[in-house]
Amino acid sequence: MPKYKVIFHRDKCIGCGACTAQCPENWSLDKEGKAKPKKLELTSLGCNKEAEEVCPVDAIEIKEVQ
Ligand code: SF4
Repeated sequence: MPKYKVIFHRDKCIGCGACTAQCPENWSLDKEGKAKPKKLELTSLGCNKEAEEVCPVDAIEIKEVQ
Protein backbone atom coordinates (compact mmCIF):
# COMPACT_ATOMS: atom_id res chain seq x y z
CA MET A 1 0.00 0.00 0.00
CA PRO A 2 1.33 3.45 -0.87
CA LYS A 3 1.87 5.75 2.08
CA TYR A 4 2.30 8.99 0.15
CA LYS A 5 0.81 10.46 -2.95
CA VAL A 6 2.53 12.90 -5.30
CA ILE A 7 0.26 15.61 -6.65
CA PHE A 8 2.01 17.35 -9.50
CA HIS A 9 0.62 20.57 -10.95
CA ARG A 10 2.24 20.41 -14.36
CA ASP A 11 0.59 23.66 -15.47
CA LYS A 12 2.50 25.52 -12.75
CA CYS A 13 5.90 24.01 -13.57
CA ILE A 14 8.39 26.48 -15.06
CA GLY A 15 10.99 23.81 -15.81
CA CYS A 16 13.65 25.20 -13.48
CA GLY A 17 15.06 21.74 -12.79
CA ALA A 18 15.38 22.21 -9.03
CA CYS A 19 13.35 19.10 -8.25
CA THR A 20 15.43 16.99 -10.62
CA ALA A 21 18.63 18.22 -8.97
CA GLN A 22 17.23 17.57 -5.51
CA CYS A 23 15.54 14.28 -6.22
CA PRO A 24 16.73 12.61 -9.43
CA GLU A 25 15.44 9.25 -8.22
CA ASN A 26 11.86 10.37 -8.86
CA TRP A 27 12.05 13.54 -10.97
CA SER A 28 13.28 14.26 -14.44
CA LEU A 29 12.42 16.74 -17.18
CA ASP A 30 10.31 15.67 -20.14
CA LYS A 31 10.81 16.67 -23.77
CA GLU A 32 8.88 19.88 -23.23
CA GLY A 33 11.14 20.86 -20.35
CA LYS A 34 8.54 20.23 -17.66
CA ALA A 35 9.13 18.08 -14.64
CA LYS A 36 7.99 14.50 -14.74
CA PRO A 37 7.62 12.24 -11.72
CA LYS A 38 8.47 8.60 -12.22
CA LYS A 39 6.14 7.50 -9.45
CA LEU A 40 3.00 9.17 -8.12
CA GLU A 41 2.42 6.64 -5.37
CA LEU A 42 5.20 6.19 -2.84
CA THR A 43 5.83 3.69 -0.11
CA SER A 44 8.53 5.94 1.35
CA LEU A 45 9.21 9.64 0.96
CA GLY A 46 12.83 9.36 -0.13
CA CYS A 47 13.88 12.77 -1.41
CA ASN A 48 10.40 13.77 -2.59
CA LYS A 49 9.79 16.05 0.39
CA GLU A 50 12.92 17.99 -0.54
CA ALA A 51 11.66 18.23 -4.13
CA GLU A 52 8.38 19.63 -2.82
CA GLU A 53 10.20 22.17 -0.67
CA VAL A 54 12.63 23.31 -3.34
CA CYS A 55 10.02 23.94 -6.05
CA PRO A 56 9.71 27.74 -6.41
CA VAL A 57 6.14 27.64 -7.74
CA ASP A 58 4.62 24.97 -5.47
CA ALA A 59 3.98 22.62 -8.36
CA ILE A 60 4.76 19.58 -6.21
CA GLU A 61 2.62 18.43 -3.31
CA ILE A 62 3.27 15.31 -1.27
CA LYS A 63 0.31 14.05 0.72
CA GLU A 64 0.20 11.31 3.26
CA VAL A 65 -2.37 8.66 2.39
CA GLN A 66 -4.75 8.13 5.31
FE1 SF4 B 1 8.98 22.40 -12.24
FE2 SF4 B 1 9.02 22.91 -9.64
FE3 SF4 B 1 10.50 20.97 -10.62
FE4 SF4 B 1 11.13 23.49 -11.11
S1 SF4 B 1 11.16 22.49 -9.12
S2 SF4 B 1 11.12 21.81 -12.62
S3 SF4 B 1 9.10 24.40 -11.30
S4 SF4 B 1 8.25 21.04 -10.59
